[in-house]
Amino acid sequence: MKQNQITAEILCVGTELLMGNTVNTNAAAIARGLAEIGLNLYHQTVVGDNPERLREALELALSRADVVITTGGLGPTYDDLTKETIAQVLGRRLVPHEESQRWVAEYFRRIGRTPCPNNQKQAMMPEEAVVFQNHNGTAPGCAVAGTGRWAGKQVVMLPGPPRECEPMLREQVLPYLQAGSDTRLVSRCLYFYGIGESDLAHRLDRLMRESTNPTVAPYCKPGEVMLRVTARVAEGQSAGALLDPVVEEIRREAGEWLYGINVGNLQTALVHLLLAKELTIATAESCTGGLVAQRITSVPGASSVFEWGVVTYSCETKRKLLGVSQKTLDTYGAVSPQTAMAMARRARVKSGADIGISVTGNAGPEPSEGKPVGLVYVGLDCDRCTTAQELHIQTMAHDGREYIREMAASRALHLALETARQMVK
Ligand code: ATP
Ligand code: MG
Repeated sequence: MKQNQITAEILCVGTELLMGNTVNTNAAAIARGLAEIGLNLYHQTVVGDNPERLREALELALSRADVVITTGGLGPTYDDLTKETIAQVLGRRLVPHEESQRWVAEYFRRIGRTPCPNNQKQAMMPEEAVVFQNHNGTAPGCAVAGTGRWAGKQVVMLPGPPRECEPMLREQVLPYLQAGSDTRLVSRCLYFYGIGESDLAHRLDRLMRESTNPTVAPYCKPGEVMLRVTARVAEGQSAGALLDPVVEEIRREAGEWLYGINVGNLQTALVHLLLAKELTIATAESCTGGLVAQRITSVPGASSVFEWGVVTYSCETKRKLLGVSQKTLDTYGAVSPQTAMAMARRARVKSGADIGISVTGNAGPEPSEGKPVGLVYVGLDCDRCTTAQELHIQTMAHDGREYIREMAASRALHLALETARQMVK
């Protein structure tokens, strides 16, 4: 069967999901993965840890889809019933799986604990299953083909904890599901800053409507839009030949807002550029409380470009720690372009970095210094310039404060990215 005709369905098992105690992030991760390999997904179900209802949900899913992917309930405890119930429905016995037995024993040896008898339950697998070893926990996953009424159907079982489920999905299950397909999906992700989703969609309206291979789909988050351009590539066909013309057309229409391709996010783009140019950066933050530094240091490799960041929340620390002059603070106020520039400059001078960036503003909920909520200044200092940008971040949302802080941090990262692009060490 062609990959684009196979239908899959997701079935998540766990009472904590039904009760709203745990957010169903596995379903989202699996859905994204299935879309990447081009399987059709029409239904997702959540069911509690109850064998009768699980059986019912599984039979319904098997009646509609070729592949049912489950998560949860593979563990060693009494309420972990997924494997037993599914094996029964599919007409498969559970048999000891030697490799898994060894694996579970080895896992416990590595973490310095002794397995309890329950753990061997995890090494029981449906007969003829394809087993996926768990590199981040003890419960293996598996793929099992149905028999009898469910011949031709397949169930893939994944563990519940996301840090076990997601790597197993990415590293083992998606390649397994994709193997044997005569086409593969290849994507380019284009990252935009400073243009809204509707504006971008308007500029690319014809392209987004008419393109079928590749397809162009937008995803947005505060202040940013990502366009995923995805081609279905047949054996012997070149992905570039399908993708390049469309990427070029998008560049022509909206290139000025495009900050990177396949870069992931602003902070990763920035850190990679600084690494490539051997430049360093320092931060001085007020209303973002360290968010800019946090985002930079979340990128592996940040230690080569980031040594120094301070949070100077009060006027006193802006003066004492950074050395912003009392006169600047008195004359213009803490939320001002002058203070933003002084903070950026002092951060650069004190740290010896090539670029200093700063954020000072009012994230709300109340106006301060007579400055409105959402007024933020982002400052930047490097050897060729000192600038400040004024932002008026409007939001009616209940989480307005967080939104303002995120938006301000993004602007600071983007300003640094644009500046670094023009710099040579
Ligand atoms: P374990 O070996 O830890 O018992 P398991 O495969 O039996 O794993 P569950 O017992 O169902 O999985 O869930 C373990 C934990 O994983 C839950 O407490 C929950 O925090 C998390 N979890 C389960 N299902 C999901 C899901 N769909 N999305 C996000 N987190 C989940
Ligand atoms: Mg469990």
